[in-house]
Amino acid sequence: SLKNSRDAELLARAQRVVPNGVWGHMATRSIAPGYPQFFAKSDGCRVWDADGNEYIDFMCAWGPNVLGYGHAEVDGAAFARMKQGDIGNGPTEVMVELAELLVDTIDHADWALFQKNGTDATTASVTIARAATGRRKILVARGAYHGAVPWCSPSMVGVTAEDRAHLAQFEFNDIASLDAAVAAAGDDLAAILLTAFRHDVNRDQEMPDPAFLQQARRHCDQSGAALILDDVRAGFRLDVRGSWAQYGVKPDLAAYSKAIANGWPLAAIAGNERMREGAAKIFVTGSFWYGAAAMAAAVKTIEILRDTNALAHSAAMGQRLREGLDMVARRHGFTLSQTGPAQMPMVRFAGDQELRIGNAFCVAALRHGIYLHPRHNMFLSAAHQPADIDRAIAAAETTFKDIAALGITPPRI
Ligand code: PMP
Repeated sequence: SLKNSRDAELLARAQRVVPNGVWGHMATRSIAPGYPQFFAKSDGCRVWDADGNEYIDFMCAWGPNVLGYGHAEVDGAAFARMKQGDIGNGPTEVMVELAELLVDTIDHADWALFQKNGTDATTASVTIARAATGRRKILVARGAYHGAVPWCSPSMVGVTAEDRAHLAQFEFNDIASLDAAVAAAGDDLAAILLTAFRHDVNRDQEMPDPAFLQQARRHCDQSGAALILDDVRAGFRLDVRGSWAQYGVKPDLAAYSKAIANGWPLAAIAGNERMREGAAKIFVTGSFWYGAAAMAAAVKTIEILRDTNALAHSAAMGQRLREGLDMVARRHGFTLSQTGPAQMPMVRFAGDQELRIGNAFCVAALRHGIYLHPRHNMFLSAAHQPADIDRAIAAAETTFKDIAALGITPPRI
């Protein structure tokens, strides 16, 4: 079986000095005990865990890796900037350059503002919307993830109802429920906040219905509220112009992080003229928000995404994976539900509500050198090559034999 003694040792040490040892979305104990938790290195589309096991990676650091780990040009730009100084008493020229690039690249953008994490960007977007409108209510889709602070955390532990006092929910893609939430908010509506598509954990992904996006836009136009696109997960992965470019619906504010600098720590808000004054009035800041190295990495990343076929390639690799997995699963009598954009695949076994099959499959796949997730969407990068995908499909074939040997059979559906 998989060598994991070093991982277990690190986890035991961590548990003594870090609550739970590891925390948040990257804690792997919820998949299975012993699921690799500590990593030693990464390169291209590969990762090596603390025990030296090598995997073709389909999580891409949960989104930041879009061009490949250790991308020479991106890292070269960041290291060069780092040598001149990263954190100082204020921004460097590269902040202006990056803001200009975002304004040129993103459809709706007239200005940009920078942070570090996705939650910083979604939280500041909400603050800007309230400052711009002088109103309080924020409408969110039920089940959508927007970050990990009290107003939006998926957990209520340590959170008060008052933290959510001005949040109301609607159903994604359901115009009637959106209309009702807008009506209930009345003249206190500050914003409608939406992810690029429905990518909630542990359910099939759903692309937005263009009519639904248009209705959200119409509500904001009529009421003066802000339409906020939380593009943290999908941004710079589907379309450099913004993830709704293909629908022709422009948000007033969009939040980015993850892929924006190919793994260097950065988040951004891109806004339009309507929101400029609100953005200028609020107070937001952070010790590391002007870090120049990550901004230099972002400039290079966005230029590459704009000027090459990197995104089309990663989508094609995702499609190749999807078709291969589908074929292999069918051959073994399983039906897969594969949803969402091919480069952000959610792969679920039909009839597997308890994730008995999904978890066992992902655990077994580790031994054949592929790193997957059973209930969160995965990610492809531009570094994945056809040979990597074909190896992963061959590994999946062997994995199906392994789980059959464990007595896991297709569910009746
Ligand atoms: N919004 C969305 C849609 C996300 O996927 C995430 C991160 N998974 C966030 C916000 C929060 O980003 P971060 O974890 O960088 O704070």
